[in-house]
Amino acid sequence: MDDKLYGGIEAGGTKFICAVGSAPDKISEQITLLTTSPSETLENVISFFKKWPTLHSVGIASFGPIDLDEKSATYGFITTTPKYDWQNVGLLNYIKSGLNVPVALDTDVNGAVLGEHLYGSGRGLNGLAYMTVGTGIGVGSIVNNKLIKGLSHTELGHTLVPNIKANEEKSSCPYHSNCLEGLASGTALRQQWGIPAEDINDSMAWEIEAKYLAYGLVNVIVATMPKRIVIGGGVMNHEGLLENVRRNVKLTLNGYLKLAELTDQVDNYIILPGLGELSGVTGAIYLAANL
Ligand code: ZN
Repeated sequence: MDDKLYGGIEAGGTKFICAVGSAPDKISEQITLLTTSPSETLENVISFFKKWPTLHSVGIASFGPIDLDEKSATYGFITTTPKYDWQNVGLLNYIKSGLNVPVALDTDVNGAVLGEHLYGSGRGLNGLAYMTVGTGIGVGSIVNNKLIKGLSHTELGHTLVPNIKANEEKSSCPYHSNCLEGLASGTALRQQWGIPAEDINDSMAWEIEAKYLAYGLVNVIVATMPKRIVIGGGVMNHEGLLENVRRNVKLTLNGYLKLAELTDQVDNYIILPGLGELSGVTGAIYLAANL
């Protein structure tokens, strides 16, 4: 890549990470903005990037669902998100017209899996999955070195899982009573336990959480057989959760797959992001540089 300057945005339900760099792995400045109302948040995003009048292009890795069909009248819009004030927000057009540069768009987890695949924990592997467990749950997948896309982007956060405490829990997903996001996202934890995920100390809560995440990961494993899984998002900061998830993945598979990665080497198979909080924004800059 040359010395052009590219912008990257990871648009999340809790925060927006914005960065500029001459390449995805050469970020020179970054900022984290709280996600508030669409107009306030996006104005702050525009102000940040306006400091670089020679910016060549911008990539966005956004929470969703988002309309990625370029022929659609609502291309680049956030659509049926449970964050109601962000429904029907024309994210791509807003950034494009505000900065007057070409803008690329994909999902937050597609950006993150791209970033980790090219520059982080998935380097050299032709298959990788990235799961985020934060405000929502999403999964981005690379199979044979390509992002999986179909009618739209994939929605593995809404894969159905067994409801562990059927009579006591309530899903936070307005569409499904027993999807992974509805039962195990940060939003779900807050709803079930009455306090933010980071304040939950009840070991039972984290046992259940690890089981749900393991169910979700096993669904990902049997569907696409990733060579490695990177798991990020704020909820994963809870001490011991990652180890508990690995243990539950093995328990859930129950010996069905005799692969070293899923048995003895699971500690090296399900891992945290190599790029820390910058997986998504790194992928977003990659999208910008490849427009
Ligand atoms: Zn759902």
